[in-house]
Amino acid sequence: MEFNQYPVNDLMYITNRPPLVFTEGDGMWMTDHTGKRYLDYLQGWAVNALGHSPQCIQDALLVQSKKILNPSPAFYNAPSIELANLLTANSCFDRVFFTNSGAEANEGAIKLARKWGKKNPNQAGQNRFEIITFNHSFHGRTLATMSASGKPGWDTIFAPQVPGFPKAELNDLASVEQLINDKTVAVMLEPVQGESGVIPATREFMQGLRELTKKRGILLIVDEVQSGMGRTGELFAYQLSGVEPDIMTLGKGIGGGVPLAALLAREEIACFEAGDQGGTYNGNPLMTAVGVAVIKTLLAPGFMQSVKDKGAYLRGELLKLTEKHGLEGERGEGLLRALKLGSDIGPQIVDIARDLNPVGLLLNSPRPNLLRFMPSLNVTVAEIDQMITMLSDVIGQIKK
Ligand SMILES: *Cc1c(COP(=O)(O)O)cnc(C)c1O
Repeated sequence: MEFNQYPVNDLMYITNRPPLVFTEGDGMWMTDHTGKRYLDYLQGWAVNALGHSPQCIQDALLVQSKKILNPSPAFYNAPSIELANLLTANSCFDRVFFTNSGAEANEGAIKLARKWGKKNPNQAGQNRFEIITFNHSFHGRTLATMSASGKPGWDTIFAPQVPGFPKAELNDLASVEQLINDKTVAVMLEPVQGESGVIPATREFMQGLRELTKKRGILLIVDEVQSGMGRTGELFAYQLSGVEPDIMTLGKGIGGGVPLAALLAREEIACFEAGDQGGTYNGNPLMTAVGVAVIKTLLAPGFMQSVKDKGAYLRGELLKLTEKHGLEGERGEGLLRALKLGSDIGPQIVDIARDLNPVGLLLNSPRPNLLRFMPSLNVTVAEIDQMITMLSDVIGQIKK
């Protein structure tokens, strides 16, 4: 494929993309190479917590880039210390290791749990290393995180898998209990499964898991790469169920659009020794300065309440749409929501909405019978109304 002045075939093929090059972004809007504007309900896959190129991120990048880019991970830098302070002060965790992607944070969580399982062996004195994960879960695209993921087909694409990730069913405590043996060291889950179509773990399940893992002496790891950083209306989704996990990973929203992620653990779990973990770019001040700007915005008085309010408003509008067009309903938490279409019209909606004129609408259909909404956390009511009007027109066209 080649279009206009863009020889796109020099990029390695990994997925099908529309013949558009996005050149500018501002809040909930993006502009393509022809100048057409799009209302963006993907936001880089729930990444742009504050929308495209917000002022506070521009400022953080400019200010920090004039000070220092990279003192080396062998030395401390101020933004990473400040961001770690803010994260631990506002969560149940004590220690933070910064990474460059969610998958890398999850790799770190897996390594930390295995290290802890080595230090805390079973009664026979053997290492514990198995981490129970869930069918349909998504934890990233490295070999270990693909093996941990429960995406259909992912067990065979790059076989052999990294061993040690038996799969249970979300919201089925008995299915977890059945898999626990003397090699089990942890249970890892997304408090809201994102890629599989926005499926929240129930409060009862989260509480049951915490009780079960405590009783059996194993760790509870939450992958909050998508659900964390205010997305669900709480700063972290584990707070929705009132449990305190042992390890958490963050990504996506924490960098508001730049590559930043994190691994957090409680003090007694943070057992890495010198040389166990590291990385060239990990915790670099340019990215962590952005993280500081993002979390300070989320922590400002009233911000999280506004996310809750906007989430409730979006939910109400999606329910009205459901009624109007005879769809199946909606689900989700805060500003991570899905519309259940009742038939496999998701991909068709995505294409038609994108090609609307004069302005397009960018939507995501992680499953053919579902749309997922991941607006910026500072989306306005007017921008929700505009999306609903456009989406209603598209569904009306298809259902005619
Ligand atoms: C996106 C995502 C990841 C992977 O993050 P990357 O930054 O793409 O490596 C891991 N876990 C969950 C829940 C995610 O949504």
